[in-house]
Amino acid sequence: MAEKGVLIVVSGFSGAGKGTIVKKIVSESPELSLSISMTTREPREGEVDGKSYFFVSKERFEEAISNGELLEFATFVGNYYGTPRKYVEEMISQGKDVILEIEMQGAIQVKTRFPEAILIFVTPPSAHELKRRLTERGTEDEATINKRMYRAYEESEFIDRYDYLLVNDDLDKCVEELHGLIEASHHKPDCSSGLLKKINEELKEYI
Ligand code: 5GP
Repeated sequence: MAEKGVLIVVSGFSGAGKGTIVKKIVSESPELSLSISMTTREPREGEVDGKSYFFVSKERFEEAISNGELLEFATFVGNYYGTPRKYVEEMISQGKDVILEIEMQGAIQVKTRFPEAILIFVTPPSAHELKRRLTERGTEDEATINKRMYRAYEESEFIDRYDYLLVNDDLDKCVEELHGLIEASHHKPDCSSGLLKKINEELKEYI
């Protein structure tokens, strides 16, 4: 039986650059599958339905919640966001690693359901830099940027729920570090893994 894949959850302040980090690592790692989330947010310019997100109505999202189609979900600055369950479960059981780029409430739900998931939080080096990146992106108005800054402040109190912290002051370095964390997560002794069960069985012959 194939070993199970690792579930990697990347969160970070909105504007911390986690989207760019995740895109880069996925493009460099064919064995890493990216989960596409469902959201009720309006598409931004250049975003493609089914690639960036599955863009759905509030009614469709609420139907997905009640049908148990989502692994986790949360509201973020007035919109729903959630991870479709089926894709993640299929990939993991086929031994493929899956990466989720989701906010904090969702990440904590994932950790509760999959304690073996690794949770990684990405932060810019300062709050000033966060505001600068959000403003420079030019995709949100001032009021939304301020809401996102407030949300970052709230989230900053809970970062210790994560397994690892990445400081994003250099994209390539950050992606390199993320590769390292994923690699390391494959060396966690998972007691249900096939290899450990096999070794345990083999050892019985020597006792
Ligand atoms: P954005 O609107 O900037 O694309 O995303 C807003 C926030 O929602 C980001 O922090 C992003 O990581 C998070 N997010 C995206 N997809 C999901 C999801 O499926 N579940 C949860 N809980 N958060 C998500």
